[in-house]
Amino acid sequence: MKVRAQIAMVLNLDKCIGCHTCSVTCKNVWTSRLGMEYAWFNNVETKPGIGYPKDWENQDKWKGGWDLKRNGKLKLKQGSRLQVLLNLFANPNLPEIDDYYEPFTFDYEFLQTAPEMPTPPVARPISVISGQRMEKIEWGPNWEEILGGEFAKRSADYNFEDVQKDIYGEFENTFMMYLPRLCEHCLNPACVASCPSGSIYKREEDGIVLIDQDKCRGWRMCVSGCPYKKIYYNWSSGKAEKCIFCYPRIEAGQPTVCSETCVGRIRYLGVLLYDADRIEAAASVANPQDLYGAQLSVFLDPHSQAVQEQARKDGVPDLWLEAATRSPAYKMAMEWKIAFPLHPEYRTLPMVWYVPPLSPIQARANAGEIGMQGHLPDVDSLRIPVRYLANLLTAGDEKPVQQALKKMLGMRAFYRERQLEGRDNAALL
Ligand code: SF4
Ligand code: SF4
Repeated sequence: MKVRAQIAMVLNLDKCIGCHTCSVTCKNVWTSRLGMEYAWFNNVETKPGIGYPKDWENQDKWKGGWDLKRNGKLKLKQGSRLQVLLNLFANPNLPEIDDYYEPFTFDYEFLQTAPEMPTPPVARPISVISGQRMEKIEWGPNWEEILGGEFAKRSADYNFEDVQKDIYGEFENTFMMYLPRLCEHCLNPACVASCPSGSIYKREEDGIVLIDQDKCRGWRMCVSGCPYKKIYYNWSSGKAEKCIFCYPRIEAGQPTVCSETCVGRIRYLGVLLYDADRIEAAASVANPQDLYGAQLSVFLDPHSQAVQEQARKDGVPDLWLEAATRSPAYKMAMEWKIAFPLHPEYRTLPMVWYVPPLSPIQARANAGEIGMQGHLPDVDSLRIPVRYLANLLTAGDEKPVQQALKKMLGMRAFYRERQLEGRDNAALL
């Protein structure tokens, strides 16, 4: 057993309001420099949507990335290390600038000048760079939310029947949720393994993954190799950059910028203890649906005397050991099992965890259908399909997600009933 400490983040998606404050404050602090205009160390995606960079979850598209179908073995599709080196000069597997985004705004003037129509005019998307009309703008960040897919393709021929069909037909069954994303500071980081210069490293003391800017040669194999596409090439410096988990703040005992400024208070930071000797086995299990369980198996109980003794021998400082015993990440991911890793099938053992969202259920709760009368609904009747959440968080295994949703519904019902009875919730805490 080799004990290591890892700083981890849990995001409660039930509370994210999609305000993007986290992204903007992060950008102001870390990526407001020349060459990084397009880069968002933290971004908030509207799901289901194709995300940022465009289509990042489609691992077949990024042929330089990890081969997910190789039955448990991580391998660059280019083949041997020599082939990887030969490919450096023509790496064909990077997202292009259009895959990140073209900033857009809306043609508000059109609202004033539109000819008389059977339906009210809508503001069309236009490029903020060139002022091009909507035919030229095909995608942007959170496009699916703002323009509702098919809405974007229609213009003057969008008539009353279409509106009725969209609002009362397709839209009736739609759902959406927000997914804030940052580098996962993986236990088995693909970016580290794919860097030919050896410039990316995982810190021993807290597991934060960093790029040594002096060593980086700008090969960009890390951009290909990261299945979460969370490394950015700075076109001005010619180096790769990524989220640094606000390590100067963490070292000073402060939270990350995104955590501190989060409007919904959805982010929790905590220390996890893991056995570094178990990582290879956990990342290599054959069946993708077993990967969530395998990921849990690398973590150690911080309250165990034996684990603490071994951790001290392995050089984990007392401060981190104490933090591990009070860690909300350990409670939510390991004890309560309500927080899950994003796409565990990527096999990098990601360290940003997500509590799946229940919402939107307020209207049904108000109608007395959910959790107000002492009964719980079937989780399958929630608006966001369990199957979708399972594909996002447990490589398709629905059972752990269902159990987590049930626990959260139970908790919500409990507190709602206390509130209805006028009892003091504070006394319960
Ligand atoms: Fe590396 Fe990507 Fe994992 Fe971050 S998310 S540690 S960049 S592989
Ligand atoms: Fe969600 Fe918090 Fe970011 Fe707002 S600041 S988008 S609530 S994670």
